[in-house]
Amino acid sequence: MDPYAVRDRTTKGVNAQPDRARIRVLDERVKNQIAAGEVVERPASVVKELVENALDAGARAIEVDLEEGGVRLVRVVDDGGGMDREDVALAFIAHATSKLHEVEDLDHIASLGFRGEALASIGAVARCSILSRRQGDATGWRVACEGGALSEVGEAGAPAGTRIEVRDLFYNVPARRRFLKQTSTELGRCLDVLQRLCLAHEGVSFRVTHDGKRALDVEASMDLRARVRRLFGADLAGELVEVDARDGATRLSGLVAPPRFARGDSTRQMWFINGRAVRDKVLLRALKDGYHGFVFDHRQPVAFLSLSMDPGLVDVNVHPQKSDVRFREERRLFGFLVNSIRKAVATTDMSTPGARLLEIAGQREQREAVLPFRGGFAPVSRAPNSGAHSEPFVVREVAPSPAWERDQRVAAEPSIGAQLAASAALSGAPLVQVARTYLLRALEDGFEIVDQHALHERITFEALRGELARGEVEVQRLLVPELVEVDRAHVTLIAPRSAELARAGVLVEPFGDTTLAVHGLPARLQRPRPALLVRDIVALLEEDKALAGEKLLEEVLHRAACRASVMAGDALTADEMRSLLDRGRHLESDQTCVHGRPTRVRFALADLERAFHRR
Ligand code: ADP
Ligand code: MG
Repeated sequence: MDPYAVRDRTTKGVNAQPDRARIRVLDERVKNQIAAGEVVERPASVVKELVENALDAGARAIEVDLEEGGVRLVRVVDDGGGMDREDVALAFIAHATSKLHEVEDLDHIASLGFRGEALASIGAVARCSILSRRQGDATGWRVACEGGALSEVGEAGAPAGTRIEVRDLFYNVPARRRFLKQTSTELGRCLDVLQRLCLAHEGVSFRVTHDGKRALDVEASMDLRARVRRLFGADLAGELVEVDARDGATRLSGLVAPPRFARGDSTRQMWFINGRAVRDKVLLRALKDGYHGFVFDHRQPVAFLSLSMDPGLVDVNVHPQKSDVRFREERRLFGFLVNSIRKAVATTDMSTPGARLLEIAGQREQREAVLPFRGGFAPVSRAPNSGAHSEPFVVREVAPSPAWERDQRVAAEPSIGAQLAASAALSGAPLVQVARTYLLRALEDGFEIVDQHALHERITFEALRGELARGEVEVQRLLVPELVEVDRAHVTLIAPRSAELARAGVLVEPFGDTTLAVHGLPARLQRPRPALLVRDIVALLEEDKALAGEKLLEEVLHRAACRASVMAGDALTADEMRSLLDRGRHLESDQTCVHGRPTRVRFALADLERAFHRR
């Protein structure tokens, strides 16, 4: 019946009692098909539900076979507790679950499933069968469910554990079937789910095939790092740093990658709560904040993190796929997570290895290929700007300059990277400035190239941020205010922010309709450039009018640090170079600039030997 028919007639003011739709209780099959829409979106959701059931049943070995991206077949075989005749008979019935009995149980859910709707939903939209035998029982049982129609339970021989097959997903719901994507896309999603589950469950083996070919294979004995190695490679696995922190009964554990592994997508960000893979906003934001300033804008850090906590402190029953959660003490948890993650990230090796640049250069050469090999050796990488300055190598020995000494007040625990750098005979090593932009320094086992502007900016920024965190930024008042001509709109943009900007040490006020007056700037800035800075702030606010609070102040300080730092193109004396590098050592990270670009690239001996084909 046309559902709009009734409404049409009423809007036309027809009084006669229409042939109206009566409320009816939906029959079980339709109900399950509707429910299925929430739980079962695509083959990956079937995989998730079936594997979670196997895990809930205590399985130690799980096998998954997929065909055509899981659309044609998802088969999950486990060695868990199994089901008896009665369980098998109920498994496909909606709201039949062995995991939840009372409403109160919802307050402390420890199992992955609990609503008893997954199998009923899947059974409504596919051709399914269960074959299961309880550990210790003499015989197994079989039942089938096709498009919601349940078969009789029959006796059948079976190994202990459960085998569930789901064939021809959505065969009876063409509208939903049409929404499925290409086989490779659906397979990708299935594998993503399986990867997450297999990382969340150490001690369980996973064996996955697709169209008969092995797609994933993880042994029970493999720990998290070994699993990451199997799934994502040795390069990443070897560089991961462990996180292990506690706050009362809440424990955060897992592995975080150095910032340089960050990528364009978030497929290598995994969060687990009590063994459940989740994609929760709070957790993702904690990860982002933990890496803030180390990772280049919009790149996604790589981390595999588990939270174990009192099930009473987290509500997993807020989302049909149980991927979003709600925390009882969100603020406290958030602070704990950001701090713990940040501490671990700071101990990763943040240097940018020259080896990677060699690889990238190598790949590029291969792509551009077949240029005749003319010179004596292939260039490793080209310094930008090198055309602009005609002195490619300048070494100067000049008297110490006090300019650098002013802000040596930066104090923080030295990071591992800093400690490494410190051990590399800093004072004696010769320094070379290349193209007035890069500093070249010999290390015991290679050399490094430092971007002078990026490093100085980071140092200045961290010092300013430290002042901001401690209270107020120290201000240098200008004897004569600097007047900056801007648009009328810009004056109205800045005026209401004066008080806020003052917290960042920027004293700026309207001075007529189209003029801003700068009265003071952070004292730490070595060569403040008020007009440039004010225009930067205007641009910042124009781009994001809602920018406020800490975010705004951080951005302002960053701009201030950028404008006041040595630039690419500034010639530096040897002492200035030394002082700059020396001060970098005291930072939490002197390896990246504020936005996560590297401040330095390190070439180890091994890289050099590779470049010169010595090995
Ligand atoms: P839920 O997991 O929310 O309880 P499901 O519909 O996924 O609901 O499963 C229904 C019930 O079927 C489970 O509670 C469990 O008792 C049983 N079951 C499902 N899969 C398995 C399995 N692999 N091994 C043992 N029991 C299972
Ligand atoms: Mg379940």
